[in-house]
Amino acid sequence: MKKLYFTPGPSQLYFTVEEHLKSAIKNDIGSISHRSKAFEAIFSQCVSNIKALLNLPEGYHVFFTASATEIWERIGQNLIERESFHFVNGSFSSKFQSIVNNLNKSGLGKTVEEGQIVDVEKVLIPETSELIAITFNETSTGVMHEMEDVRKIRNAFPDQLIALDVVSIAPGVPIDFSLVDTTYFSVQKCFGLPAGLGVWIVNDRCIEKSQQLLNKGMSIGSYHSLPELEAKAKSNQTPETPNVFNMYLLSKVTEDMLLKGTQQIHIETNYKHAAIQHTVNESPFLSHFVEAEKNRSKTTAVINCTNPTKVMNALAAKGLIIGSGYGKFKASQVRIANFPTHSKEQIEMLSDVILSLNI
Ligand SMILES: *Cc1c(COP(=O)(O)O)cnc(C)c1O
Repeated sequence: MKKLYFTPGPSQLYFTVEEHLKSAIKNDIGSISHRSKAFEAIFSQCVSNIKALLNLPEGYHVFFTASATEIWERIGQNLIERESFHFVNGSFSSKFQSIVNNLNKSGLGKTVEEGQIVDVEKVLIPETSELIAITFNETSTGVMHEMEDVRKIRNAFPDQLIALDVVSIAPGVPIDFSLVDTTYFSVQKCFGLPAGLGVWIVNDRCIEKSQQLLNKGMSIGSYHSLPELEAKAKSNQTPETPNVFNMYLLSKVTEDMLLKGTQQIHIETNYKHAAIQHTVNESPFLSHFVEAEKNRSKTTAVINCTNPTKVMNALAAKGLIIGSGYGKFKASQVRIANFPTHSKEQIEMLSDVILSLNI
């Protein structure tokens, strides 16, 4: 039976990936040199598609890494001299904070209970924090910030750098990237690609900051420091032999998404999100984990479930794979992804099957 993955990443591949895999093989993408003109064209196409899809303002650079986790470490090395401040709404935001501390820098932060979200009106951020880290969509707990939260932090801290994790949300909802200095995602969530590629976006202020740290004699890492990434990106190349295959797929999938149109993607996300909300409201064995409706994730619903194993198995028997709860919530929750590859019809089918289950 053909399975359909509604897991929060890795997830169902974007529906055009199969066709692009075939063309990648036909065009020898796995064999070409990363110093060739053919690779430079893939790099350049990827960058311009991402800029268009995310509606990035002028002056932002797009770089490639192995994962979003790597980007946390690179931000720690390149953009923080002594201290950062993290909004910790769950496991992913917490991991970023730990990485900064592992680098012997001071990752301060505000941690809230799972299912809650850091209140930007009340949080006290020291002026000494050079970078403020916000996870727009916390995949482990299903809480999502509002754009207004980021705007308020930007207005209150014009001189600090703001890092916005959009790993499990972009390009599903509109985000104003002019409010942040750096942002990042990996491709196995909303972009519907195999894992193993991270995309790191920075503005000039970030590049200047890393240069300052370097000038002070600090280590900012080696091959994936911002100055190294930037130097190579100028000629549409990467310092190392990168994941060319996945970059090719990303250039193709972003092209497909652009053809569909970002507005259409956002409309469909909202529509499918409403369908998932409705399903939770109607189901006798499901309930919302995140109380505040405005903070419920539009792309990764985290749902209380009276018997997750039974529900997941019943759905799996019909080829529908949903995610388990994260970490300590494995026995009490399920997670359902609503990514651009998931069609309205697929989400409606999932809803119908869930509501027909006798649990
Ligand atoms: C998955 C995820 C990450 C980590 O991505 P990797 O590709 O595993 O490095 C970071 N932040 C959020 C919000 C995520 O969902």
